[in-house]
Amino acid sequence: MSQIARNLEEVQARLTAAARRGGRDPAAVKLVAVSKTVDVGRIQEALAAGQKIFGENYLQEARTKIAALGAGPSWHFIGHLQTNKARAAVELFQLIHSVDRLHLAQALEKAAARLDKVQEILVQVNLAGEASKSGAPPEAVPELYRAIAGLPHLRVVGLMTMPPWFDDPEVVRPYFRALRELRDRLRQLDLGPLPELSMGMSGDFEAAVEEGATLVRVGTAIFGQR
Ligand SMILES: *Cc1c(COP(=O)(O)O)cnc(C)c1O
Repeated sequence: MSQIARNLEEVQARLTAAARRGGRDPAAVKLVAVSKTVDVGRIQEALAAGQKIFGENYLQEARTKIAALGAGPSWHFIGHLQTNKARAAVELFQLIHSVDRLHLAQALEKAAARLDKVQEILVQVNLAGEASKSGAPPEAVPELYRAIAGLPHLRVVGLMTMPPWFDDPEVVRPYFRALRELRDRLRQLDLGPLPELSMGMSGDFEAAVEEGATLVRVGTAIFGQR
């Protein structure tokens, strides 16, 4: 068994255990293998081991890999997205995790309309107000969500966050909880069920799963240090 296959098996086992601890169905949690900077050969190893969803941060890099590997796996965009790259993003990705402003949503709407596609997206939330990170401030999210929900070629299926980085997952846990609570408040707007919560990375995905993550974005623990 390859190292990547072993890592995937271990991450999946930890994810299953965390779901059970949180009283959740492990099948409700999907593992997004973050493959930024990882070459096609190593992604192929993950594919051969049964991994089905890959997350990419850079459009140019993703385009090359998707051309090589095809649309068999599901490709998710998790990086910062510039408005002028909206069309490429809609062409390439099944789910875009990082929609954080109306202007970007409108560009995606236009691109999706042209391609006759309904694009699934997540609204990215910047819970700690970190200037270095993308994401809408939580207080702006209801209005942003309401506006995006009115765009016919976009479907908001949930929220994504990238909390401040801490060694200790227990320090990050309140951010995961806050994202879930924000999602629960948005549900009261009756604009859709918002099933997905994209949260948790290599260092803290177990806490995220315990708090309700449905998509965890794990790179290093699968592919090793970048
Ligand atoms: C790189 C990246 C990850 C994965 O981080 P690891 O610590 O390597 O698991 C997850 N989410 C986003 C948005 C990233 O850019």
